[in-house]
Amino acid sequence: MGVREIKCPVCEGKQCLVCNRTGFYEIEGEIWAGVQEPHVVQYVHDNLPILSKEYSEIYGSGMNMKTLGILKKNWEVLEISSLIGSMWVCINIQSAETKHFYKEGGLKKWLVLEK
Ligand SMILES: [Zn+2]
Repeated sequence: MGVREIKCPVCEGKQCLVCNRTGFYEIEGEIWAGVQEPHVVQYVHDNLPILSKEYSEIYGSGMNMKTLGILKKNWEVLEISSLIGSMWVCINIQSAETKHFYKEGGLKKWLVLEK
């Protein structure tokens, strides 16, 4: 079975880490057959610092922010996601006090337990 060269599916030819900045990607055998989700996860894990930088260059800040609404009296919760994880910022719409959570468990605990 030969080797096929295709336009890099990650950057679509714009040159990235995955294609060694060539814009092309060599595939042996059946296309995609060797790529399984655990491999992708492993790859992301092993290359996170580089990928994070790469991600920012390709897609901008790489941050996605959305409001989850008022989840507690007077508190609006914003969820901020990026390649390196998520965090939550809670803003008191009356006092402008803020709280930060880096684990969803911490946020949920605060939502339930504290008044
Ligand atoms: Zn590429």
